[in-house]
Amino acid sequence: MAEVVQERKQRQNEPFCAYLHDLDALKVQTASRASSLPEFFKLFYAIKANSEEAILRALAPVVHGFEVASLGEIKKVRQVSADIPILFGGPGKTEAELEGALQHNVHLIHVESVHEMNKLNAIAGRHNKKVSVLLRINLKGPLPQAKLAMGGRPTQFGIEEEQLPQAMEQLQQLPNLQVEGFHFHSLSNNLDAEAHAQLVRYYCSLARRWAETYGLSLRYLNAGGGLGVNYAELEQQFDWNHFVNQLGSLVKEAASPDMMIYFECGRYITASTGYYAAEVLDIKRNHGKYYAVVRGGTHHFRLPSSWQHSHPFQVITVDEWPHPYERPSLDDEKVSVVGQLCTPKDVLAQDVQIDQVRVGDILLFPYAGAYGWAISHHDFLSHPHPEHIYLESNAEIGGGV
Ligand SMILES: *Cc1c(COP(=O)(O)O)cnc(C)c1O
Repeated sequence: MAEVVQERKQRQNEPFCAYLHDLDALKVQTASRASSLPEFFKLFYAIKANSEEAILRALAPVVHGFEVASLGEIKKVRQVSADIPILFGGPGKTEAELEGALQHNVHLIHVESVHEMNKLNAIAGRHNKKVSVLLRINLKGPLPQAKLAMGGRPTQFGIEEEQLPQAMEQLQQLPNLQVEGFHFHSLSNNLDAEAHAQLVRYYCSLARRWAETYGLSLRYLNAGGGLGVNYAELEQQFDWNHFVNQLGSLVKEAASPDMMIYFECGRYITASTGYYAAEVLDIKRNHGKYYAVVRGGTHHFRLPSSWQHSHPFQVITVDEWPHPYERPSLDDEKVSVVGQLCTPKDVLAQDVQIDQVRVGDILLFPYAGAYGWAISHHDFLSHPHPEHIYLESNAEIGGGV
């Protein structure tokens, strides 16, 4: 990626700032993961992690489908594929969104509350349809520790486990809903493959028990996303092979042609093949600390600030210095990387030991492909947006998003 950045920098005078996505790597890696899953397990991509069209086009042929959380996301998916399976979840779905979901032929709707069941049943009735749903359940816990937990504690997500009997009773009154199984998405960024496999096992045992209790035929269990990316130690990533091996032993007990298990991963699919690159505009000392100010910042790449971590980066050297004034440089020091916003929260990396960094060099942040641009407040302060570069088999598609 460093060569691509250096080469592109040579073609322009403006300070460099871009997202770069290696679509070939994205396709190969995702296809390999999807095909390594045991039989009856399917991989979906949760598009909120990065819903850019080029990303969805690259992924559509290699994943089983897409998970979405709004009508806007449904439309983005239908833009790239008329028939790929869609799972539709998220709290507070409006009538228009549910209507849209039926119109766009989504595969399953994850209902998040009893009120939502009633609402969807009425809409389905108007269309004379029986709609397939999964009930999203927020478990009592305790669940494995995670930096971001959607379940196992009070949140706005899902039907609480204690309320399941009432929800099941209410379903008797709702002839236009067909419960096909359960949905769980309890945590995000789990790095422990063993714990995650156990969590899936736990979901399966609960779903089996409930199916028996309520006389349901379970066709799907959605075990959510939440497979993690280790931003602190890039060499120590989620152990996919171990996870898949553990799932293998689950097959006999749980998954079968009658009951498929779905994953809907976001971060784990797009993080590692995306990069954010930003040119150093200034280097300064302030009260004994060093700062490198880059073209860009958290309005492009809010992930480090949202997760409150120091994001790893690499210095890409740019030797040209066409200016008549002196080139600032910092050697063998600790430096914090900050952006151009007028807030001390605009920090991408903190107190990182570097050999050398100069104004005009470019900092390359890896693992930026998920929850980067997608969650950032792009127009705060009205600075220019980064370029979006999609690299694909020697062809490249540039341009805005
Ligand atoms: C965000 C989300 C996902 C994806 O989460 P990751 O942690 O990125 O894998 C999956 N399912 C639901 C319901 C979500 O809200």
